[in-house]
Amino acid sequence: MRAGVVTPGQKDSARLIEMDMPAISGGQVLVRLLELGIDGTDMEINRGEYGETPPDDDFIVLGHEALGQIENPGTTELGKGDFVVPMVRRPDDCVDCQRGQLDMCLKGNYQECGIKGAHGFLREYLAEDAGFLVPVPEELRNIAVLAEPTSIATKGIKRAIEFHNRSANPINIAVVLGAGPLGLLATALLKLHDYDTYTLDIVPRSSVKAQLVESIGANYVDGNESPVVSLPHKIGNLDLIMEATGNSTVAFQAMSALGTNGILCLMGVSTGQKPLEVDASCLNMQMVLGNKTVFGTVSSNRSHFERSVESLASIEEKWPGWLSRLITRRLTLDKFRDGLDPDPDNIKTVIELT
Ligand SMILES: [Zn+2]
Repeated sequence: MRAGVVTPGQKDSARLIEMDMPAISGGQVLVRLLELGIDGTDMEINRGEYGETPPDDDFIVLGHEALGQIENPGTTELGKGDFVVPMVRRPDDCVDCQRGQLDMCLKGNYQECGIKGAHGFLREYLAEDAGFLVPVPEELRNIAVLAEPTSIATKGIKRAIEFHNRSANPINIAVVLGAGPLGLLATALLKLHDYDTYTLDIVPRSSVKAQLVESIGANYVDGNESPVVSLPHKIGNLDLIMEATGNSTVAFQAMSALGTNGILCLMGVSTGQKPLEVDASCLNMQMVLGNKTVFGTVSSNRSHFERSVESLASIEEKWPGWLSRLITRRLTLDKFRDGLDPDPDNIKTVIELT
């Protein structure tokens, strides 16, 4: 079978190779992979900035956002032809991993398919334990490749709501920073909660991203005209902010813009170094006197994937066709390298693996 691989630490090493067909053993199923979504982490790995090979190989199969179909269910209860989405993390022996909360891993010895120590899903077939495969209904076939990024936003919003529940005042205003795939999916999830949602980016109001925000009843904010620090004066108390740009300066601006009893969820990873001068006393005082909460969130576990699949169905029902519009580029497996080049007009690139 064909697979798209990289050599971690080596810039622009992405290439197609032939690999042996995987064989299933007890409790495993054979999955024919159909689609793979490319995200920023894949691009970072191909730039040589991130990634770790499995112990026995000097390369890693790229890709962690996938949709597949069961080819051989083995002895499991899954059926041939069922659609499934594979989870990304594989646990270590810490107490959280052992309870299924592998997104909360304490020791950090987990593996992440396509990222850290385990092969990913940019290949034609996968032998996998059924416990790491999340079933998706056939009617979501065209958009289920978005289940992984949706599970990240799902986890972040769930935790933010848990934090905010300490206040009797409900969440009224929610802000999303960044209108990339993660920010757009977070926008839709917040609109499912009926929050007054504002999504900020620096693309023009005429762009597809801005149109996608407005078409589900959220408000697009052009950050060039209205940076996040100006939002409290314009729209009121910011109860919830989901940071999805990965820009550390924006993250600090969001801390000071956060409203009373507000919750700031940081979902974006920033790399490199970026010194920043902040008024630490003012920020500290605002955080304390405003009962503000800032938290980071990474990865997701099975419960978030399952909820993510339910939410995708709800989004599709409420705004038919909206999720498909997030997939702006489809490439065949032999052209997957083109999907690793940044393209500001593109939202989500999907590689067709069949
Ligand atoms: Zn662990």
